[in-house]
Amino acid sequence: MIRSNRIPSVLFDAMERGALVITANARAARVLHQAYAATQQSQGYQAWTTPSVQDWQSWTADLWRQAFYTYPDLPLLLDTQQERVLWKRIQQREAVAVVSPDSLAHLSQQAYALLSRYCAHDQRRQPWTTLDSEHFRSWAAAFDAECSRRGWASSSRCDELLASLVEEGRIPAPAELLCTGFDRLLPSQQRLLDALHARGTLLGDLDSETPPGSRTLICANELREEITACATWCREQLASDPSLRIGILVPDLKSVQPAIDRIFRSILTPRDTSILAAASRPPYEFSLGSPLASVPVVRAALLLLKWLTTPLPEEEATWLLLSGFLATSEGEALTLAALDARWRDTGALSPELPLETARRKLSSAAPAVAQRLLQTLRLVQERPRRWSEWTELAPQLLEAAGWPGHRTPDSAQYQAQQRLDHLFDQLAALDFDASQTTFRDFVRTLTAQASETIFSLESYDAPIQVMGAMEASGQRFDILWFLGIDDQAWPLRGRAHPLLPAALQRKHNMPHASPQQDWELAHAVTLRIAASAPVCVFSYSRQAASGESRCSPLLSSLVATEPKPATAFLQQPRSASAVSLETIPDDSGVLTWPQQRTAGGSEVLKRQAACPFQAFAMGRLHTAVLNRTERGLTAAERGKLLHQALEQLWSAGFTTRDQLINATATGSLASLLQSAVAAIFAPYSREAAGDNWMLTYLEGEQQRLITLLGHWLAIEAQRGPFTVEHVEKRLDNIDISGLRLNLRADRVDRLPEGGHFLIDYKTSLVTSNAWQGERPDEPQLPVYALFGGIDDLQGVLFAQLRANACKFEGLIAAETNAHFAALPKDIAKIGDIYGDTGPEAWESALLNLAADFLHGEAAVNPLHGAKTCRYCALPGLCRVAELQALTEEDNDDDEG
Ligand code: SF4
Repeated sequence: MIRSNRIPSVLFDAMERGALVITANARAARVLHQAYAATQQSQGYQAWTTPSVQDWQSWTADLWRQAFYTYPDLPLLLDTQQERVLWKRIQQREAVAVVSPDSLAHLSQQAYALLSRYCAHDQRRQPWTTLDSEHFRSWAAAFDAECSRRGWASSSRCDELLASLVEEGRIPAPAELLCTGFDRLLPSQQRLLDALHARGTLLGDLDSETPPGSRTLICANELREEITACATWCREQLASDPSLRIGILVPDLKSVQPAIDRIFRSILTPRDTSILAAASRPPYEFSLGSPLASVPVVRAALLLLKWLTTPLPEEEATWLLLSGFLATSEGEALTLAALDARWRDTGALSPELPLETARRKLSSAAPAVAQRLLQTLRLVQERPRRWSEWTELAPQLLEAAGWPGHRTPDSAQYQAQQRLDHLFDQLAALDFDASQTTFRDFVRTLTAQASETIFSLESYDAPIQVMGAMEASGQRFDILWFLGIDDQAWPLRGRAHPLLPAALQRKHNMPHASPQQDWELAHAVTLRIAASAPVCVFSYSRQAASGESRCSPLLSSLVATEPKPATAFLQQPRSASAVSLETIPDDSGVLTWPQQRTAGGSEVLKRQAACPFQAFAMGRLHTAVLNRTERGLTAAERGKLLHQALEQLWSAGFTTRDQLINATATGSLASLLQSAVAAIFAPYSREAAGDNWMLTYLEGEQQRLITLLGHWLAIEAQRGPFTVEHVEKRLDNIDISGLRLNLRADRVDRLPEGGHFLIDYKTSLVTSNAWQGERPDEPQLPVYALFGGIDDLQGVLFAQLRANACKFEGLIAAETNAHFAALPKDIAKIGDIYGDTGPEAWESALLNLAADFLHGEAAVNPLHGAKTCRYCALPGLCRVAELQALTEEDNDDDEG
């Protein structure tokens, strides 16, 4: 294995003689410090002088700080937040019709910074051609005027201001300075370096060395295969030499980070895919962090503060209660979780939950939590205050509410809390102009800032470093893999800035100003990457997200050979050091269902047919779905109300077809409908007392149901004569080959010539095909028909009650076929003859399903694939997505 010298000798010598070394980013500076220390140790030293290595931003900030304390006439450099506030204020003053001042302030700040970095502020002297850029030009003039009046400056002008101070001899020039890892120096940076050079600084250039090395090109069929090949390669390399430092570079890390994490974890640390595995550090780490606002402990803090100002949507309130960050003990956490479930089940959770309402609801079951929330609410004040006052109060509010909870923070949580504290400090600096703000605005700004702040955990120097191509500047690796470099992804493409004239951006070579500019930068980065390790693998996929792709033409000068297939890496034998697999038979078995226990209703068999795991989880593990809160009635509630209304009508109103016809003829049907529907809606109306929206909605639902029932009863009146013998008939302790069920038949009609029809109301679209097959979609009616003990059954029928789609559908015996003769065929869809089709075919399917449930058959096997899963709430439990991913992999292997 070729090992790189992680510090080029020229650089090492410069560090030894005390030259100032400037890197493009903080990560590169840290890595350089570590490599220097490792080299000193390898040479037998135990102590050495710390080299002067800093990233550009820290170096210039330090220079400015020193100058600022020495020369009182210097302006105060505004930080990002302070500058944003100023831009927003200027725009609100200048532009009457700004729709989103926050976004526009952000854009203006970016545009101004571009002009600073590309030394192009003088271009603002002439008018610009587009309306947007002209607006920006006038805001920038106002910004400058305000800064000059108040003694402020944008921090984007730091390089330029420092260059002037160097030129004036007000800050000393270092004897020797070397820049390393810069793909391209910005004009403002170049200006500062020129000023230093003019004052005698010796400038060095380290990036001209391009050591020759091994370069391989790999082609995969698609991204998953490419990442899998890369992970397999990493595993083999580390198995042969665990001390390697491996770089995995990607043009746009953000878009592929989740896929890389999933595949690397499964290949490099397969034990960690278990949800029971203790958290461990994988052998790879990402350079890219995530928004601070999305880190759980910070999200909880932000939601709690937001809750003090406005009701929280149900999902956010629930997340907060279940997060554990408001519970001061394990018991309290469990109580809050149980309460949340109960509120859902009883419909007590509304789509939006004010904190005061939550506090009242909590007062009996979780009085300590309620008391803390009350204390917190009392601390908040309405009147505007200075930003620093709010940043002092916010931690007190969080603490009063019990945040961050009872758990001892792990390192990640601790670091996130520290970062939040730092954010409070940054917001306190908004006092710079002595302005005041409301608590609501403070929370909104804090949340926006936390969303913009990228939070990265401290590096633990994992052997595999995964980073974006641009972030890897100044770093050296023993080996590296640059993946995803197809012709669509590399060079990176982007849009020119919308507030600056396109011609100006092209003239100054600003980012994405032209395809040529993107090409040149990507070319420089590609060369730099190729020079940063003695062994480089480049790869791309033929199938990109946006269609077919080819290798990026930027590689043509670097890799002359034909690409190798990624499958060559996948088929590599595992290294000798890899552990051998052991086979452990799983003979734990599943306890059979106790025969004396009732398993519920016919739903059990419906679930067993739809997906055995679903039946197992809900029937045996008692997995319950948390009710979602919806404004208004749920589909299940609407179905229940329809059943109740029909039960009332066919028991209290009339019981025969002729009585129905008579009620229609005498006009009493309308009042029967009205009173039946009003009676079943009464509890809902009582519950909604005082809620005008809900009462109006319920009124509309009642009218809708009355219309639907009126339409349905007109169809019933056209049937042959019948008497309703049972409504909602209970059939308890039905035994299906040892499986005991309690059933409830919607309706049993008796015919005058003898025999019965079994009827099941449905509000969804149904078809009698749903009774067929080994795994019937709707086994309910076949169960009643075969095991319900109904005498002389002459037909089984769905009664589909839907607006504009009412119908009977099912099977009836040949002797009764005149019964529906008066109804059109699309309203009485009578299929095969009951007796010829039905009972026998259904029986074996139902017995098999019952036996499967009793024996604990729990395969994750959805009947209609994704369609079945779409209406199931258990994908998080059965992990069907992972199973499907595995199946796809198997298929791919087969095809391959
Ligand atoms: S999500 Fe799909 S596979 Fe999982 S239990 Fe439900 S139906 Fe079965």
